Amino acid sequence: MEKMYYASKLANVSVKDRYLDEAFHLEVKNLLLLDPDRLLAGFRETAGLIKGLDDDGCIALMKGKKRYGGMWEDGLIGGHTLGHYVTALAQAVVNPVLSDSEKKDVSDRLTYILVALKQCQELVKGTEGEGFLFGASFPSKEFRDNPFLQFDNVEHGLQELFTQAWVPWYTMHKILTGLNASFKIAGDSLALEIANDLGIWIAKRTESWSEETNKVVLSIEYGGMNDCLYELYQINRDLKESGSELFHPEYERFAKAAHRFDDETLFEKVLSGEKNIFNNVHANTTIPKFIGALARYETFHEETRYLDYAEAFFDIVIGKHTYVTGGNSENEHFGEDDILDAERTNVNNETCNTHNMLKFARRLYEQTGKKKYLDYADRTFVNAIMPSQDHETGFTTYFQAMATGYQKVFNNLDGNFWCCTGTGYENFTKLQDGVFFEDKDKLIVALYMAAELKTECYLVAMDCDFAASDEVKILVTPAEGKSFTKDLYLVIPTWLKGEMTASINGKEYVATEKDGFIVIPKSELSGGCEIKVKLPMGITCHNLQDGENTYAFMYGPYVLSARLGTAKMMTKSHGVAVSVACEKAVDSDEVVIESEKSVEDFVANISDHLIKRDGEMEFDLTGTDKKLVFTTHYNQYKESYGIYWKFRV
Ligand SMILES: [Zn+2]
Repeated sequence: MEKMYYASKLANVSVKDRYLDEAFHLEVKNLLLLDPDRLLAGFRETAGLIKGLDDDGCIALMKGKKRYGGMWEDGLIGGHTLGHYVTALAQAVVNPVLSDSEKKDVSDRLTYILVALKQCQELVKGTEGEGFLFGASFPSKEFRDNPFLQFDNVEHGLQELFTQAWVPWYTMHKILTGLNASFKIAGDSLALEIANDLGIWIAKRTESWSEETNKVVLSIEYGGMNDCLYELYQINRDLKESGSELFHPEYERFAKAAHRFDDETLFEKVLSGEKNIFNNVHANTTIPKFIGALARYETFHEETRYLDYAEAFFDIVIGKHTYVTGGNSENEHFGEDDILDAERTNVNNETCNTHNMLKFARRLYEQTGKKKYLDYADRTFVNAIMPSQDHETGFTTYFQAMATGYQKVFNNLDGNFWCCTGTGYENFTKLQDGVFFEDKDKLIVALYMAAELKTECYLVAMDCDFAASDEVKILVTPAEGKSFTKDLYLVIPTWLKGEMTASINGKEYVATEKDGFIVIPKSELSGGCEIKVKLPMGITCHNLQDGENTYAFMYGPYVLSARLGTAKMMTKSHGVAVSVACEKAVDSDEVVIESEKSVEDFVANISDHLIKRDGEMEFDLTGTDKKLVFTTHYNQYKESYGIYWKFRV
């Protein structure tokens, strides 16, 4: 069965927004600065050890290069970065805004890595490790003697991060996803061969599990193993159905292996309506499991219960655990239902979580057509993903503090290979994702940004600059000899302050509204035209379930954060070598209102108190004891910030 809508292909969409264009090119530059042989070192060593090479043989195979350091790539989670890296390269290589020389470099880099991975698989052909790819470190002789030891340990419930296992299935998910992406997005058939051989190793491994072992494996973080296996199954099934010879003859095993990673007990729990079911649950372990449930429904549409699981989980996260930016979690965990103000600290909103929730929302939209998923995607892309980058270096965040007074802390190029570093590579190589969705009769504008969609049949060019104006211009141009044959659906944003209006070729157009969109029928568009849409913007106020008087502010789609200077930007190490902010730039986040009689009145009259400077995205808070200046949160990467403030009279 078909999806309801599908996101326009990355290769067909170009981002024209200057800030985002810079963000993308910074990311590409950094990806190319990394040494592929160092990212591959662990994979080559693993293959060498399985083959029985001695130390010198392994060193030669590794081209004398070592894994990167920083306790992640040279730890038991080593190799996860290469998975993200391959996904990012596959996304980048099809991006129409790459220059020719960048495109050549990215394409060569992707090919280099895929060829190297294939060589690793060739080396272990005929051994018990046939198809296996892995890049983790070998902390002791025991690990060198048995390169599968982490997987053995997980099956026995052993999970000490430095001596037993650091989530090997999580890492495997990243690797297989990268290979899938290289075929699905970049069309590389070598990647599919590698993925299929790896898929068979995975299938074999899961087929050996008893029910009991399966349960033990599911108790330890395994990323989205169900998601990537359903995806690989779908890729092969589609190839077979389309008459291609590229599919693997045993691809049915991938779906069976995927089922092994579906945690039915957990899935059923989200439908129970039980309170606090995710209290103290690791967020980034859990979110991908439900993306996997959605993947099962995407693959087998008759299994509608899996869509129910996915939608119910999404609603719980959004309804009970999400801040104004779209982010969630405190120190990587969900808290009690609706406890958000009390959990604002220096370690909220892990980037992996927002990355996964954004992906989840867009895929839920493709399946259901429900606008609420686009609303969340808009919020999160603009206020959690865009703000996760240092716009000078291109490096990205692990956490974004929701406590007031901390700064963002970014990774560096070659020392912090955190989980979120990898999702950062992915985020900034697909900035055009989810701007447009389509089916055969409709074109949906889901996110307003300067961007173009170009197909064989038409060009749709959207232009806007919300810092300067609330107007969006959309130019529809059919290709020569063609006419535009789709109805245009323009999303009505949740952040509007007033009525959305449209004009076509300079004349006011009274559009029909349908399910949260305004609709312009193809009859108006067939020969091409210019549409102008007005999206009135203003300040909106957002408090928290457990913080009646704790408010954040938005201007249009942008969450605002107060500029708090550079004097207190200290960091410390947290968890496994993760840098976090540790000193607040303000003594208190309390703001005393001097201009109104109550917080309620202050909020009701906020446009009199938080005042935009002409032509700038700078906002002055007035009528209070603190003289704060707010700006858009996404470009706050140089100083401490405050999104939430506690108001009182
Ligand atoms: Zn992360």
